[in-house]
Amino acid sequence: MRDVSEDRRDLAGEELAGLAAIVGPSHLLVAPSDVEAYAHDWTEDLAAAPAAVARPRTVEEVSALLAYCSARRIPVTPQAGRTGLSGGAIPVRGGLALSVERMASILEIDAANLVAVVEAGVVTQTLQEAVEAEGLSYPPDPASRGSCCIGGNVAENAGGPHAAKYGVTGRWVMGLEAVLPSGAVLTTGGKTRKDVAGYDLTSLIVGSEGTLAVVTKAWLRLIPKPRSAAVLVAPFPTLEEAARCVVEITRNGLLPAALEIVDKPAIDVASAKKGVTPPFPEADARLLVEFDGGGDEEVERDVMRCGELALACGALDVVLATDEARRRALWDVRRGISEAIRDRGVSVELDLAVPRTELVALVTGVRRIARGAGLDPFCYGHAGDGNLHVRLLRTGETERRPERFEEAVSEIYAEALRLGGTLTGEHGVGIHLRSRLPLRLAPPLLAAMRAVKDALDPLGILNPGKVFA
Ligand SMILES: Cc1cc2nc3c(=O)[nH]c(=O)nc-3n(C[C@H](O)[C@H](O)[C@H](O)COP(=O)(O)OP(=O)(O)OC[C@H]3O[C@@H](n4cnc5c(N)ncnc54)[C@H](O)[C@@H]3O)c2cc1C
Repeated sequence: MRDVSEDRRDLAGEELAGLAAIVGPSHLLVAPSDVEAYAHDWTEDLAAAPAAVARPRTVEEVSALLAYCSARRIPVTPQAGRTGLSGGAIPVRGGLALSVERMASILEIDAANLVAVVEAGVVTQTLQEAVEAEGLSYPPDPASRGSCCIGGNVAENAGGPHAAKYGVTGRWVMGLEAVLPSGAVLTTGGKTRKDVAGYDLTSLIVGSEGTLAVVTKAWLRLIPKPRSAAVLVAPFPTLEEAARCVVEITRNGLLPAALEIVDKPAIDVASAKKGVTPPFPEADARLLVEFDGGGDEEVERDVMRCGELALACGALDVVLATDEARRRALWDVRRGISEAIRDRGVSVELDLAVPRTELVALVTGVRRIARGAGLDPFCYGHAGDGNLHVRLLRTGETERRPERFEEAVSEIYAEALRLGGTLTGEHGVGIHLRSRLPLRLAPPLLAAMRAVKDALDPLGILNPGKVFA
């Protein structure tokens, strides 16, 4: 692990006692072996140990912790599942890591109002399975859904494969309970579907990466579970052809629930880890397209039309999966890509997003730049949203020439921006992109964001070192 601590704040014995008095001694971790797991998320090999970890159970405890830390200028880093890919949950300034892992109750599934009320530490997949058991659906599904939590999803405004049709987390958040650095508890929104009383602070907190408030509870919108679904996989001779097909699918009026692109290196590592052999192993890329809806007929019609389009775009074949077990197996390989690449060594993940029509130019540019620098990128992602993940291993030649690696990364970001895109589609800024943020945001916009930060966190104790350089 690479230590990325900066201006580290330790905690005095008297401060540890004060914090322990709030959460109870067994929920204030201080031993290095207990704290180690809270020093990192999933970002490369980066780590910075907090001086202590508090694991509150109630919003009152969160409020008391923040008030205590404000009074003593102790940096606080909110944490949930620690699956982040931008370093947002890494306690770079030491101080206190505030983990919501014990706040993990699903408080209510209100089928009549189509709302779930959950604590911030609920694992996303746990919520999805609970609502599905009631015939309902909570669509936002980061590929990490088995270990990330609602608090982290809200803080990152997380996306995922099904954002293609259903949008990102923020679209599903109807209200929040959140605690400001001062300890003040805010409740924004709730079960009411329409509410324009005052500023939309729910949306302000969504995506604020734990720098404005600690989310403790969320009111989340639900929908009836789609009655039917089918998945189509289409292998293509080239990544560019696959990307071109993405545009054709939407241009032809189809609205897939998920529209994923995966290149050969990514499918190869994920398939090898799962012990399966993908059909058409020579294919340079494949699309995984899911349709869902109210009935088999509608889904079948869409999936057939999509298959025809894929073949017209140059697909080598189309493979359909209508039964649940086969669909799960395909998704299992897709969701396993990140972990499989991680097994190969330390890597940087770029989370580029461009207008969908620029996807072909983006994949072409990424490969040209990466290969020019002697790198073999893994390209995959949520193509329906124009969101491409590019993973670059920091191994071999790269380790010997780190400056060439950084140059290539900068060139790839510049290419995404040139195409009208952005630096991050769903993983957030964290520490990973804070120095590059001015490339994306004009000075007045950046200044407005800083003003919001200063207004809500005047002492700068909440997740310092994140978002802003
Ligand atoms: C294998 C893998 C696949 C992934 N796939 C996707 C994907 O498809 N889509 C996607 O969007 N992301 C994806 N991610 C990234 C990551 O899972 C998401 O960003 C997720 O939302 C992080 O949730 P978490 O609970 O792990 O949060 P953490 O990593 O613990 O924290 C993330 C950020 O949220 C803040 N935070 C955490 N809890 C709170 C809280 N209660 N209140 C305020 N701030 C808080 C932290 O300070 C930090 O800045 C993936 C990650 C992995 C490892």
